[in-house]
Amino acid sequence: MKFKKLIAFGLAAVMAVSMLTACGGSKKEEVKDSTAAESTVPTVKEGVLTMATNAYFPPYEYYENDQIVGIDAEIAQAVADKLGLELKIEDMEFDSIITAVQTGKADMGLAGMTVTEERLKTINFTESYATGIQSVIVKADGDIKSIDDLTGKKIGVQLSTTGDIYASEDYGEENVEKYNKGNDAVMALLQGKVDAVIIDNQPALSYVAANEGLEILDTAYAEEEYAACISKDNEELLTAVNAALAQLTEEGTIQEILNKYIVTE
Ligand code: GLN
Repeated sequence: MKFKKLIAFGLAAVMAVSMLTACGGSKKEEVKDSTAAESTVPTVKEGVLTMATNAYFPPYEYYENDQIVGIDAEIAQAVADKLGLELKIEDMEFDSIITAVQTGKADMGLAGMTVTEERLKTINFTESYATGIQSVIVKADGDIKSIDDLTGKKIGVQLSTTGDIYASEDYGEENVEKYNKGNDAVMALLQGKVDAVIIDNQPALSYVAANEGLEILDTAYAEEEYAACISKDNEELLTAVNAALAQLTEEGTIQEILNKYIVTE
């Protein structure tokens, strides 16, 4: 069970189809109208779309000076504009995002978050806006050359991410070191405290570019879909954000934002 391919595509397709059948054409009108004056979409704070994220996940969210920028920040801004809402971004540990959304501290979590069956039990996800890959970072001069070599090694992950969930399942909790930030896991690899780090591919590329002596294994560990999470108690917001995302996809805005940030090597 070294290589795990995730739910993702089937699930995303089902979500997309049900969204289309649920919203039809009239929702588009609704989104358009709501940009006019003030929004009628229910949010935690009136007129504001509060997004929970963990801003240490480049290029999806990261600090540039003291501002949070990146793919998710731009998509959220575009969604907020469509809905006639002001965007507010709250930075927190990745582990706290779902709870913040469930308990009404934020309207949506947008954090390069993978749609998983387990998470779907507690939270709704919008239509997926990007695909992700779990990659394995190792020392370039080390003895791990493929995923098969991971057995019996110490693996570093970011707490509560899918990298953590899969690695703990596949290699046992005792072989997995959990860090609050992806960067801390990478520092542990550089210091020889762990032998490999399993983490999303885009931040992995930026960590490898920023630190000498690291490389990413050729084989992906898992393939996934990213989406925004929204409370199960706010179906109206889910419908509105999905309609906004559909429009942004149709207009090419989502692709433009992805192209601006996605690194290929
Ligand atoms: N895609 C991973 C997950 O959802 C990691 C996301 C993140 O660290 N921001 O678990």
